[in-house]
Amino acid sequence: MHRVVIAGAGFGGLATAAALRRAAAPSELEIVLVDRRVDFVMGLRKTWAALGMASLAAGLRPLRRVRDVDFVEGGIERVDPAGRSLTVDGRAIDGDALVLALGASQDMQAVPGLAEHGLNIWDREQSEPARLAIDQVVGGRRLLIGIFGMPYSCPPGPFEFALLAHDRLGPEVQVSVSSPAPIALPVVGPIESAKVERMLSDRGIRFLAKRQPVAVHAGSVEFADGSSEEFDLLLAVPVQSVPDLLVAAGLAEAGGWVMPDSRTLETSHRDVYAIGDCTVVPLANGLALPKAGIFAELQGEVVAARIIARTLGREPGAEFGGEGMCYVEAGGGRAVKVNGAFLADPVAVSISEPTSANLADKVEFERSRLAAWFAG
Ligand SMILES: Cc1cc2nc3c(=O)[nH]c(=O)nc-3n(C[C@H](O)[C@H](O)[C@H](O)COP(=O)(O)OP(=O)(O)OC[C@H]3O[C@@H](n4cnc5c(N)ncnc54)[C@H](O)[C@@H]3O)c2cc1C
Repeated sequence: MHRVVIAGAGFGGLATAAALRRAAAPSELEIVLVDRRVDFVMGLRKTWAALGMASLAAGLRPLRRVRDVDFVEGGIERVDPAGRSLTVDGRAIDGDALVLALGASQDMQAVPGLAEHGLNIWDREQSEPARLAIDQVVGGRRLLIGIFGMPYSCPPGPFEFALLAHDRLGPEVQVSVSSPAPIALPVVGPIESAKVERMLSDRGIRFLAKRQPVAVHAGSVEFADGSSEEFDLLLAVPVQSVPDLLVAAGLAEAGGWVMPDSRTLETSHRDVYAIGDCTVVPLANGLALPKAGIFAELQGEVVAARIIARTLGREPGAEFGGEGMCYVEAGGGRAVKVNGAFLADPVAVSISEPTSANLADKVEFERSRLAAWFAG
């Protein structure tokens, strides 16, 4: 029987496993899913939990309940792409195909002082400390949401956080977002990005562009251009990078990302695929495909179809098209829909008006996936 090994049970790994299982019964295909965590929660829950809007727990699902897979809990220490093999807590696990869905590593140490003076709102372990700290922010105080490096997972996420924080804390708290980028969302282009910047300015939220942090001190962030920004609470989106073990495996350059084929997601090793946040897919505008769960999912579905085709002795035809959408909350119980054809030339992205129907669709986005991926 064919065996597929999936490294990482996050958004991409779970979507791959589900798509493989829809196409092949347990008697036809063995799926081994490996993660060091015992449970999964979607990124959007981190924002809701930090802002006291909903609990993390309501969106947590145990990985042992993923439908019809062999779940292995353990730390992956080594990836051997030539052997389509992982070393997990000292044990080798190999397959006929290997899918690498290891996400991005986060580094709170990359900027001196950040770990001491800021909280990582992209880390689910810090959602509760962030909630407690946000509870202490009262009128006249300054909340700074700092983007510490590019690229990062979920490009609109920090702006969504700022809009929801403004709703939560009221206009007496000064909310600001700093970014190393010249506009809020470079990948969608200046016209669509301006819509997000307008949503911020309409509420008095400051957007500090072209601010690359170089150090954090008690109460202030110092930027590369010599400017600095004072805060009472600093919430950080930290520097993110490809996991070291993918560099050690020769699949990415240090400081770079895995670059599989943009359409097939196959790496330079046959039957070894890389998807999601650990990869970079270059776009016609010179930028990269946004790191988003929806793309990890769509890529996982393409990879699953290609693996199934090969197990049946057929030439794989499925290709990643780069078309995807996400919902970004705008506050006031509404969300915008970001729709894009990212592999088109030119890249075509549109941001809708905020509606309550979009917010309902965002809630359904989480519900439908958890229902499809997990039993019970
Ligand atoms: C606040 C926030 C909000 C977001 N909202 C949205 C949204 O609304 N829509 C959207 O599309 N995207 C959203 N995203 C982005 C989305 O969460 C990511 O793009 C997505 O999770 C990437 O999927 P992935 O499979 O590549 O990586 P991940 O989901 O990060 O999964 C990687 C997995 O690999 C495991 N792993 C890593 N290294 C090892 C190791 N050495 N050994 C064992 N296991 C390992 C990790 O434990 C993890 O489970 C959001 C992100 C954040 C932070």
